[in-house]
Amino acid sequence: MKPSEIQAHMDVALRYAEESQAVRSKVGAIVVKDGKVISIGWNGTPTGWHSNICEDRVDPTPDDYRRMSREEFEAAFPYVKERSYDAEEAEVRYALVTKPEVIHAERNAIAKLASSHESGKDAVMFITHQPCFECAKEIKQVGIKEVFYFHPYRIKDGVNFLRECGIPVRRVEKDILGQIERTRATLAALQQMHQQGGYHEECGCA
Ligand SMILES: [Zn+2]
Repeated sequence: MKPSEIQAHMDVALRYAEESQAVRSKVGAIVVKDGKVISIGWNGTPTGWHSNICEDRVDPTPDDYRRMSREEFEAAFPYVKERSYDAEEAEVRYALVTKPEVIHAERNAIAKLASSHESGKDAVMFITHQPCFECAKEIKQVGIKEVFYFHPYRIKDGVNFLRECGIPVRRVEKDILGQIERTRATLAALQQMHQQGGYHEECGCA
C-alpha cells in the first residue's frame, strides 16, 4: 500500500472516531481490503441500546482530597465541573469511567463484517489508537493481516500479541507536510478562481 493511501485511510479512521459519543477517548477503526473500505467502527454502546452515554461520572471522596497531592488529584480527576458562580463549585473535579456495555471501535468494525458479505481475511485494519488485548485477539481471529494505528498507548500487550502472531503493526505519523501541501494547493486553486472572477462564496469576498 502506498504511503499516501495509508495516510488517507488513517484520515478516514480519525474522522469516524469523531462520531463516537465517548468523552474520554474517541476511537475509530476501518477495515480495508483490495483498496476499498469494507467496514467501519467507533467506540460506543450497542445499536439500539437505551443510551449512547459511554461513561459514568466518578466524584472524588473526601479521602481522595486528603491523601493525594495536587498533581495526583488532577491526574486522577481530570475533568472540571462547569464553571459555577459558587466559588466552592469552581474547583469541583471528577473522573469518567467507561461503562461496561461500551464496545471498542475495532470490535464494532469486526462485528459489522459478520453481517456483510465481506470477510476480514487478509484485510488491513486502520485504528486511531493502539488496540487492547481483547480487540487484538479478535483482529487475529478474523484473519486481518496488517494493522496501522495512530495514537500510542502505554499498555502494549495487544500490539505485542499481534506481532507474536506474525501480524505487522505499524504507527502512522500525522502527515503534516502533506497536509500543508494540500492546503497550499487548495488555496492556490481558490486564488485562481478568484482572479478569474469565479466563485466568491468560498473566499468570503464580495
Ligand atoms: Zn479494544
